[in-house]
Parts: sequence; structure tokens; C-alpha cells
Amino acid sequence: MNVLRPIRCDVAVLGAGPAGVGAAVQLARAGYAVTLVGSPRRAALEGLSVRAQALLRELALEHAAAAAGPPYPRRGRWGGSAIDGGAEHVLTRGAFDAGLLKDARKQGVTVETSRGMVLDQGGDTFRVALGSRVLEARALIDARGRARRGALIKGPKLVAVAQALRRCRELPRGTFIVPLEGAWCWSAVGAQGAAVLQVVTAPTGLARRLPVPDLLRHALGALAREEPAFTGAQFAGRPAARAAHAQCHAELGQTPGQLCIGDAAVAAEPLSGHGMFEALAWAPAAAAGIRTHLEGGAWAPVREFLRSRALERWDHAVRLAAGFYRQQAHAAQDSFWDAIATQYESLAGRAARPHAQWVERAVLNGTRIERRPVAVTPQHPRGVWQLARVDLAALRGFLEHAPRAAVHEAATHLRCDPDAVAQALNFLSSYGLLTAGCDGGAAARLSVTG
Ligand SMILES: Cc1cc2nc3c(=O)[nH]c(=O)nc-3n(C[C@H](O)[C@H](O)[C@H](O)COP(=O)(O)OP(=O)(O)OC[C@H]3O[C@@H](n4cnc5c(N)ncnc54)[C@H](O)[C@@H]3O)c2cc1C
Repeated sequence: MNVLRPIRCDVAVLGAGPAGVGAAVQLARAGYAVTLVGSPRRAALEGLSVRAQALLRELALEHAAAAAGPPYPRRGRWGGSAIDGGAEHVLTRGAFDAGLLKDARKQGVTVETSRGMVLDQGGDTFRVALGSRVLEARALIDARGRARRGALIKGPKLVAVAQALRRCRELPRGTFIVPLEGAWCWSAVGAQGAAVLQVVTAPTGLARRLPVPDLLRHALGALAREEPAFTGAQFAGRPAARAAHAQCHAELGQTPGQLCIGDAAVAAEPLSGHGMFEALAWAPAAAAGIRTHLEGGAWAPVREFLRSRALERWDHAVRLAAGFYRQQAHAAQDSFWDAIATQYESLAGRAARPHAQWVERAVLNGTRIERRPVAVTPQHPRGVWQLARVDLAALRGFLEHAPRAAVHEAATHLRCDPDAVAQALNFLSSYGLLTAGCDGGAAARLSVTG
């Protein structure tokens, strides 16, 4: 029997979307042997926020950033008012994902363009089946997006139906959003006139009353009333449906060395428009978690950090969605908006806001995750350990030993910029987080520069 030898690497990453590629590149740049398993998505137009574009460049994903093209205006109507809300890039996911893979290869990541299936974990080795080959890795990142099943918390059931519009140079470039009765419609027109129309609705709402072609025609009519350039636009190709509900897998990292990131951890519904930003933003934390593990650090803080990060991002996504649907509910008689807003509101964390205090928490410190004292405030429930690069606990410790010290002395001791120290002092003092007897001079010290 011809048995193929396993492919060995330090880290296997399943899923080549923004989350998987972002994490793979960070780890490869740190010198680890990374194998990324995945291939570009099928063509679909999506909007990329301007801050997501900036994050792509920060993460050295230059080809993906270039595939996004220039930013175009965001227009439409929401909550009874016209939107003139900034700009976003319009990209074809096929080309964007191909750019991500190019970036991955360029940064030393080995790419296996197939699908992977996690087989098992034995000792400190994860095994992933790749067709007839087996990949063995010391750590595993699951970035399979919504393909990961078994979410613990789910938002209201929503489905997105999309169809391309015939390429038309007359259509104005940009994205458009229009509320319908029992649904909302989003359209994007990118460079060279590639365009899509997408309707998001509850499977019990408009989608139940209208067959898909009628639903899309109805949405196109509403869009044309808002933006006359769409009058006479024609559909091309076939419609495609995707699940669009928000979901969260809060139980992350039970197995040391195995992480789950991006939509595979927390997926917001598309109304937020920040899905790709959120997916990319997992990369530094995921890379730090895996590095901590591979360098012999404790796993418990990694798990704690990622779990609390996931719950925080979930809470943020749910509050954002609740706000958008509630805004539209105030402007429309349609019960759809109120029903969805109410479901999101019931999912938003009800935890009482914590009072200001020092606690020990897992934090991201550059490339590692470790436990440190953090300053928790009602506005910062996860805690802050560093402000403007000043270690807040170190500053508090210094002031306990030198309560009359001036700002520039603290800055010299901590090797920080005096303005940054003044900012940190201001923060701690405003929440009463400096030890009694050490904060009496804080206000006076703040007026001392240098
Ligand atoms: C209808 C809809 C519209 C959206 N529109 C926008 C938008 O306009 N702007 C925006 O910012 N976000 C949008 N989003 C969200 C955005 O698509 C996601 O948040 C983002 O792509 C998540 O990135 P990711 O890397 O976590 O997952 P993905 O981008 O989904 O990547 C995961 C990859 O893993 C692959 N995969 C799955 N299983 C396996 C396996 N076994 N082996 C190997 N690979 C596997 C998948 O094929 C996929 O390529 C939208 C989402 C939906 C549902």
C-alpha cells in the first residue's frame, strides 16, 4: 500500500478568509511554519469599510488591500432619513480572497488549496485530513467562517438572497441601502460597473410571501425609487441564498493549542457592515495566543482572553444591530423591525456595569497573552492595562513608592512620554484608581509638563 507521509508544520489554519489569512501571516512573520488550508470564495460583491482597508495594510495584506479598489459613497435611506454616510470599498470576494492568498504565500505561508477536515488530536499534535494527505500540526486555528457549526448563541433567523445585476456603466458607484416592508435591500456597484442586489429578510417575512424572483424585483423597484439610475437595471445569473443571522461560539479554546476565530467564533449579521473588519481584528490576538502556547506559556489566560473577547464582540454586534433595527422601527409601522430589534435587545448583555476597581485579567501584551492587573471601569468592563503605552499598574506602583513625584519623574522611571503619563494619571485619577494618599498631588502634577 502506498501511504503518503504526513505534511508537518507548526500551525495549521483552516479557512482562507480574512481571519485565517490574517492570523497565518502574523505567525509566519514570527518565524513559524504555517500551513493554510482553503481557497478563494465564489464571486460575491461585499463592502469593505475604510478602517478594514487600513487594517489590511497594518497586517501587511497588501494584495488584498489593492483588490479592494477605491472607496465609493454610501447612500440610501434608513430610519426615515436619507443616508449620506461616508464611503466604503466595493470588492469581489473572489478577487479579494485571491489577493489574501497571494499575501499569505508572499509572507512564507504554505497554502493547500483544498478543504480540510479535523481528524483528531493526540499528545500535542493536531491531525487534519486534506484529501489523501494528512497535515500534522502543533497548533490549529479554525477560521472556517460560518461553515463552523454548533453556535451556542444565535440571533434572529435571517436569510440573505442576492443576485448580480447586469454590468452597467451608468450605475453610480457605491453602496445603497433601502428598507422594504419586512426586509432590507442592499446594493453595491463596484469598479467597471459590477453590481449586486441583496435582500435580507426573515424566512417567515417577505421571503415567505414572495417567491425569490418577485422578492428581488420588488427590491429593485424600491431601489429605483430611491436612486433613479437603477430604473431599467436587469438581473444577471442566478440568485443565491446565504444564512445571515448573527451567531456566537462563546466556548473557545477548550483544547490547548486550538483556537477558533473570525466568523467561526462570532458572526454579526450583514447590516453591521463590519464583518471583514471584525474578522481581521482577530489576527493579532490569535497569533499571540498560538505563540504563547508554542513558546510554553500557560493556556488558561489564552482561553480566558479569547472567550472574553468573543463575548465582548458579540455584545457589541448585538447592540449595534438592535440600534439599527430599533431606529427603523421608530420610522416604520411594519412589525418586522420591532420584532427583530426586540430579539437583539434581549440578547444584549444585561450585566450590571462594574464599578472602578483593579482586578487581574488575561491581556494581550504585544505577541503574548498573559495575566496582569487591569483597571476596570464602568466604561471599560474588560479592563485596561496599558494606556498610551503606559503600564497603568506600574504607574500606580511607582506612585505608591513616590507619592510626591512629578510627572516627568514617573515618565523617566517608566521610560514613557511625559504627556502619555499625564494622560494615564488623569485616567486613573478620574476613576479614583490611585491609592489613597497617592492621588492628592495628581491633579497638581497634571499641570506640570515635563
Ligand atoms: C449575506 C452576507 C453579506 C455580507 N456582507 C458583508 C459586507 O458587505 N462587508 C463586510 O465587511 N462583511 C460582510 N459580511 C460578513 C463577512 O463576509 C464575514 O464577516 C467575513 O468574511 C468573515 O471572515 P472569516 O475569515 O471569519 O470567514 P470567511 O470569509 O467566511 O472565510 C472562511 C473560509 O473558510 C472556508 N472553509 C470552510 N470550511 C472549510 C474547510 N473545511 N476547509 C478549508 N476551508 C474551509 C470557506 O470556504 C471560506 O473561504 C457579509 C456576510 C453575509 C452572510
